[in-house]
Amino acid sequence: MRMQPILMLVAGVLLAGALQPAAAQSKLDEKIDSNINDWVGTYKYLHEHPELSTEEKNTAALVASELKKIGYEVTDHFGKYEDGSPAFGVVGVMRNGAGPTLYIRTDMDALPVTENTGLPYASKAREKRANGEVGVMHACGHDLHMTVFLGTAKMMAESKDQWNGTLVMIGQPAEEVIGGAAAMLRAGLYTKFPKPDYVVALHDTSVLPAGAVGWHAGPMLAGADSVDITIRGYGGHGAIPNITKDPIVVGAELVVMLQTIVSREADPLTPTVVTVGSFHAGTKHNIIPDEAHLQLTVRTMTPTQREKVLAEIQQMANGIAEAAGIPAERAPIMEVSKENVPATINDPALSERVAKSLEKGVGKENVWPGQPIMASEDFSLFALEDPKPPICMFWLGATDPAKWKEAQEKGTRLPGPHSSEFAPLPEPAIRTGVKAMTTVATDLLHK
Ligand SMILES: [Zn+2]
Ligand SMILES: [Zn+2]
Repeated sequence: MRMQPILMLVAGVLLAGALQPAAAQSKLDEKIDSNINDWVGTYKYLHEHPELSTEEKNTAALVASELKKIGYEVTDHFGKYEDGSPAFGVVGVMRNGAGPTLYIRTDMDALPVTENTGLPYASKAREKRANGEVGVMHACGHDLHMTVFLGTAKMMAESKDQWNGTLVMIGQPAEEVIGGAAAMLRAGLYTKFPKPDYVVALHDTSVLPAGAVGWHAGPMLAGADSVDITIRGYGGHGAIPNITKDPIVVGAELVVMLQTIVSREADPLTPTVVTVGSFHAGTKHNIIPDEAHLQLTVRTMTPTQREKVLAEIQQMANGIAEAAGIPAERAPIMEVSKENVPATINDPALSERVAKSLEKGVGKENVWPGQPIMASEDFSLFALEDPKPPICMFWLGATDPAKWKEAQEKGTRLPGPHSSEFAPLPEPAIRTGVKAMTTVATDLLHK
């Protein structure tokens, strides 16, 4: 679907501050102009020095020291993973009188991807793993998120006459392995620091050109579940199948039948994905094994849809095994990983407010309708912990506008997040991100 620039009504009420909004915006532009070279430098440095999930030691130290320099009360090494090990979470607090508390979150981790962008500041980082060396790259643009985050932190610190309340800047580790948000919440993020009234974040996207932002109210990113299914039959000689119960045939039928969950069972208006990513069974040509193992990823947009899809998978597995004559005591075993993550649902009222600020911050023509996608984020967890604050994540365009235009016209490929070729255009993406997030923050903490 092609996107159309969004038509929005201009906010009827201008928020009163020490400066009129237009004057405040042009002052923000001036300040951004005098900082942009430094920020592009920070971005390139972060890009060249990526660290994998849970290993963000130097990255977190940089974020913490920058926040301290700007005047935030900083707590670092904040967070505890499920196994009790410490996390490199960073929390920066700036108090500015009575008023609401806003959390702004960035993620900090990189991915095991060998960079293939050819950029002069491309990452050459490598990490040894059991099965060889792997490249490390900020292939999801968390370096861009951190740069915008630090820029916003500075802009907010320098414009305290424009807002009231408390700003809490969150540097979150381990987003890519879905563990960092939970680690920080588990360690008492909402009890040891001021309780949030709102939590906002942004994520870069190749779908929008640099200079643009996108927003979407409601479900923004899918919930993700990892499901393991063990199909248990009775093994035996491949030449005497009649005295066996073949789990490979049952598994194969299940893989095919699972495709009907999305096509026949799920509400066509509710996005759902069921993918079998792994199917392993057997050791040799002429042996029917006892078991077959399937690994699935399931993506859903609502808790009800999630429950329904998971129940259908179990029902199909049981039904096919039963039809194959496998007795109940050897029924398939289905395990849903505890490391699931719920859908990211942007609070509708907060999203409308954010959208108005985005228009004010970067201009109506640069604010686009953002599309939800079936990828997942642990940003969703910030909405589920007491006091269950409204959350909103918006999209930050990252693609070189010339390449973006060519892709629209000629259908050329645009490498996106998690690709070894993903190369956000730092300027104007950083400028746009800082303008957008600073305006959102200033408006949410309005006087
Ligand atoms: Zn990612
Ligand atoms: Zn990401």
